Amino acid sequence: MPETIDYDGVVRMLRGAAEKVTTHHGRLSELDAVLGDGDHGADMRRAMAMLAKAIAENRSRDIASVLSDVGWAVIGAGGGAAGPLFGTFFMGMAEAASTRATLDAPALAAVFSHALAAVRRQTKAEPGDKTLLDALVPAVGRYRAAADAGHDVSSAMEAAADAAEKGAEATCAMQARFGLAADRGEASVGTVDPGAASVGLMFRGFADALAAAESE
Ligand SMILES: [Mg+2]
Repeated sequence: MPETIDYDGVVRMLRGAAEKVTTHHGRLSELDAVLGDGDHGADMRRAMAMLAKAIAENRSRDIASVLSDVGWAVIGAGGGAAGPLFGTFFMGMAEAASTRATLDAPALAAVFSHALAAVRRQTKAEPGDKTLLDALVPAVGRYRAAADAGHDVSSAMEAAADAAEKGAEATCAMQARFGLAADRGEASVGTVDPGAASVGLMFRGFADALAAAESE
């Protein structure tokens, strides 16, 4: 089991997220059609295409550099309220990765925590408001707990992906208190928040990419 990931590992993770989100973009738009303006899947597909392009054009072999390029690309892709928050997440990861050439599980936990803090500075939403935070907060928390318990990079990511998906599912029972979905009032109950669903896909993509790299 690899104890650390390097530039190639980070790129693999990012590509895994892009592949997962892109594959399921139709469901994201279906959810957004109920709760918002129906474009979240298209927004995320465009953002993930920009992410892939930024990776392809990044020749630095530096973790912070590729994360920063990806962050700018995703922010530049626009996409409602959620899109730029994903970009902010990657920018926050870049900032925390700094000059590191490799990341072990505790270091990646710190990187995720820093990125989550950056996202939370950009939104007034709180957990329970039926937003992407309802998946992101548990995902990062579970990653940190798994790293603290001695799990390696990829098994901590499995745990984080489980937490992100469970967090996304839990938004189904919530009434939206934020964004366009809040206008739906009680009618927002019964549908998963599309931003939270995207976070679930992103972390599942991270985890699957790391698991696939291990079995190579
Ligand atoms: Mg939308």
